[in-house]
Amino acid sequence: MVIEIRVLYNERIYIYLLTIIISLFSFQIKTTQKVFICKSTSSKRYHYKKTCRGLNRCKAEIKETTLKKAEKFGRTLCKLENK
Ligand SMILES: [Zn+2]
Repeated sequence: MVIEIRVLYNERIYIYLLTIIISLFSFQIKTTQKVFICKSTSSKRYHYKKTCRGLNRCKAEIKETTLKKAEKFGRTLCKLENK
C-alpha cells in the first residue's frame, strides 16, 4: 500500500516536471523563433515564411524579428499560415 502511494506520487512529480520542461522549451522557441513582419502601420500580422502570400502584399519594408517581439507589438500569426 505504501509503495503504491509512493509510485503515484512519483508519477505526479514526473508529469509536473515534464510540464515545466515543455513550457520552458516552448518559451525558448518563442524567444528565438524568427518571424517576418511588414513594417507598414496597417499590418497586424507576423509570418514564418518570407515568401508568404500575405507578406507579398506588403508595400513597406519587410523586417526579420523574433516571435516574442512580434507578439509584444500585438502582432498575430498570419491567417494563411495558421494550420
Ligand atoms: Zn503569412
